[in-house]
Amino acid sequence: MTLRKILTEPNEILREKSLRVEQVDDEIRNLMDDMLETMYAAPGIGLAAIQVGVAKRIIVLDIAPKDEPKKPMFFVNPKIISKSDNNSTYEEGCLSVPGQFAEIDRPDKCHISYIDYDGQQKEIKAEGMIATCIQHEMDHLEGILFIDYLSKLKKTMIVKKLSKQKKELERIVV
Ligand code: ZN
Repeated sequence: MTLRKILTEPNEILREKSLRVEQVDDEIRNLMDDMLETMYAAPGIGLAAIQVGVAKRIIVLDIAPKDEPKKPMFFVNPKIISKSDNNSTYEEGCLSVPGQFAEIDRPDKCHISYIDYDGQQKEIKAEGMIATCIQHEMDHLEGILFIDYLSKLKKTMIVKKLSKQKKELERIVV
């Protein structure tokens, strides 16, 4: 397994629409293994392939509490079958928007179909935190970041801050 570089906003690649995976083969499983390792190392609880620069419809998640055994989940070509009308609000962050957090409303339940790590067609009825995480990651597949739901002013401020941080980082050339 290899750690991959996580792309951060602003970056045009994060705005790309990801493409369907035709077949879950060893290459795709390798990518999923790398994504999981990269996510754990960050650390984070969810990662979409586009965040490591691969425009494929793949998500990895692990929302198990820190003191409990790992519980990785893999979603290939996830599709929303239905969503609830009720929303819930969570404070969201994103590995591609480092250090920034905001309260975001999303449907509190969603019914998703997807293909798992072994290439099997599956469904999940998600609710609560996992429903929010899946929807956040599925947004990545459409090139959407959580800051897109904020007011233009707030979003602009965050993107400016991140651009500045990036420049400062790039300046450290040893
Ligand atoms: Zn994210």
